[in-house]
Amino acid sequence: MKIAVIGVGYVGLVSAACFSEFGHIVTCFDQDKKKIDDLNNISIPIHEPGLEQIVERNSKAKRLFFKHKINAEIANFEAIFITVGTPERKTGGGADLSFLFKVVEEIRPFLHDKQVIIIKSTVPVGTNREINKLLNTNRESYFPVVSNPEFLREGSAIEDFMKPDRVIVGLEHEAQKKVLSEIYKPLYLRDFPIVYTDPESAEITKYASNAFLATKISFINEIAVLCEKTGGNVKEVAKGMGLDRRIGNKFLHSGPGYGGSCFPKDTNELVEVGKKYGAPQRIVNTVMEVNEAVKERMVDLITESLDCNLSDKIVAFFGVTFKPNTDDIRSAPSLTIIPKLIDKCFKVRIVDPQGKKYGQKFFERADWYSDPYQAAKNADLLVILTEWNEFRAMDLSKLATNMKFPRLVDLRNVYSMNEAKGAGFLKYVSIGRDRGNN
Ligand code: NAD
Repeated sequence: MKIAVIGVGYVGLVSAACFSEFGHIVTCFDQDKKKIDDLNNISIPIHEPGLEQIVERNSKAKRLFFKHKINAEIANFEAIFITVGTPERKTGGGADLSFLFKVVEEIRPFLHDKQVIIIKSTVPVGTNREINKLLNTNRESYFPVVSNPEFLREGSAIEDFMKPDRVIVGLEHEAQKKVLSEIYKPLYLRDFPIVYTDPESAEITKYASNAFLATKISFINEIAVLCEKTGGNVKEVAKGMGLDRRIGNKFLHSGPGYGGSCFPKDTNELVEVGKKYGAPQRIVNTVMEVNEAVKERMVDLITESLDCNLSDKIVAFFGVTFKPNTDDIRSAPSLTIIPKLIDKCFKVRIVDPQGKKYGQKFFERADWYSDPYQAAKNADLLVILTEWNEFRAMDLSKLATNMKFPRLVDLRNVYSMNEAKGAGFLKYVSIGRDRGNN
């Protein structure tokens, strides 16, 4: 099948690469010319494990193409996926759909009734129907619009796309089902469920899923505080809860709050859409409030762990991306936490295997290091903010020996009090464990 993918970001590029791996002929379009030029030279603009090999293989096999300008060629594709960003509006009040509608306007003159337009971007309920109306008013031919929200996770996006828990497809006409089942046939044959539903249910499923996962995170972060106050251990509590199959063990890790390009904006959008339709999303609203409070609590934990004058102290942060295995820093907890500490006159150092490219502009006053042991030299405090594998098996004794005062704030509960103390750290603070946080 000949497929177009418009918007080559984290979702568009992975989807396009995987569709070409399925055997489809895929052409990607993006308004960012540099991105397209880079991709034509097999230089991948994002960090996503395994992506480069798939892009290279399929580009060489002439199944994957990258173009800058949308033009009459759009008429040649049987399916057109739109995967542009739908970020939070800068002025507040929900998702900014301007990128999406701009694409719709751009492709509109070239469409014909043998094509299917598929919205993969995360969009508020009602958007697919709105686009359908826009494309089909005063036209003789009919362009069906399909909702196909994406659930991949950055850092494991290829695996998630190739082996999804489910594919959700919202459509209104049987004819479109044939096209979608043809596109996803390789998954279908391997028995991954494709759920066909109406567009509204598909749109809501995406937001409800992300909001539910965010709820689990905020929930365990509040339980962590209770553990700290009472002598419990949140890791033990989460393990005990997670063994119950009705609950499951995923997304029960306490930490510095959720972040990334999806959970914060999607929870916010769900609350906005609830207001619009008179269906208040009170739980999700509280989940968002809790998440903001968690980040503030992290600033306090870090500040208090220094238990002395803040100025002139050197703090080294290990990790700034919102999770490991990505270079994405959008809405990461680090963006709230680190600037507050820089304001308190700390000298800040940062180590992150992939975070510098997008992170540098946010932390202008920080010094970047590539080696954690160098970053620890003469520092007063180390803070683990993102649990990259590189930070999971560090030689703690080597770190502690080099520091001015060996203190470790472990916001991802990677290590234990015994390990840290045994390695020579005089202070170890983690989340939801070790009452008193000596
Ligand atoms: P992104 O910002 O990484 O990429 C969007 C791309 O669209 C950019 O390359 C941009 O240049 C391009 N673009 C914007 N306007 C364009 C236009 N008029 N013509 C051509 N290209 C245009 O975004 P993303 O993270 O890939 O997210 C895309 C959508 O998928 C969003 O709705 C998001 O909520 C959703 N989503 C994201 C993830 C994720 O993990 N990132 C997961 C699931 C769903």
